[in-house]
Amino acid sequence: MPELPDVESFKTYFKESSLDKVIADVQCSCKDLIRNINFKDLRHKLTGKSFRDAWRRGKFLICEIKDIPEKLIFHFGMTGDLHYVKQNTEEDRFARLVIKFENEYELRLLSIRKLAKIYLVKDPEEIKLIKEMGPEPLTISKKDFSKILDEHQRKNIKAFLLDQRNIAGIGNVYSDEILFKAKINPHKNIETVGLEQREKLYKSVKTVLREAVDCNMYFDSSWLIVHRGRDMRCPLNKNHKLKKEIIAGRSCYFCPSCQKYENH
Ligand SMILES: [Zn+2]
Repeated sequence: MPELPDVESFKTYFKESSLDKVIADVQCSCKDLIRNINFKDLRHKLTGKSFRDAWRRGKFLICEIKDIPEKLIFHFGMTGDLHYVKQNTEEDRFARLVIKFENEYELRLLSIRKLAKIYLVKDPEEIKLIKEMGPEPLTISKKDFSKILDEHQRKNIKAFLLDQRNIAGIGNVYSDEILFKAKINPHKNIETVGLEQREKLYKSVKTVLREAVDCNMYFDSSWLIVHRGRDMRCPLNKNHKLKKEIIAGRSCYFCPSCQKYENH
């Protein structure tokens, strides 16, 4: 599922391809993805307009439109992606929303499993998931991070990281990476995570997400992401074998040797 670093790359892609171009038409082959407005109104609102900027909040991409207060907002679900291509070329079977520009190019929102969501709102906080969303992990202070941990002492650490109401933008893949780099066992409850580990967790949240954005998701073998579900080799020691278990309802990968339950 696209998480913070993926949505950051969608943001860059959107800004490089789709700003300041007049929208000639909008097509939608899966109107159920449009959540708070009907397709006819969405099409009417967008046609003749252009995008002026885009930013990210959690796993949402928020696209600002010139001259009107409404924003077009995408949530990419499990398999969402953006394609900017010349019109009438190479059909995308999974293009659910197509924004056609006057320059004969178009932006396609792809969603294989139809789990993407599309909104048009004046204030992003009209979307409940955004309104209730916790702080952004790239900018959260150590003090605020520590406060949120304190408020969830009884909670499992993996479940804590996944919950968008605690911290925004982290999903299954990056929560595993963050816990691996902090050497924290994903079965732990927050109350059993010692001070030293909490410090490491804070640093790991920042560095994992920042580095994933910076490397544009070209990961070297020091990342868990390269080995999970593949050779299952621990990035820190080739003799360690990764383990896969369901934790917090998700398939979680970790190294039982590096992420010992007893670590403090
Ligand atoms: Zn290991």
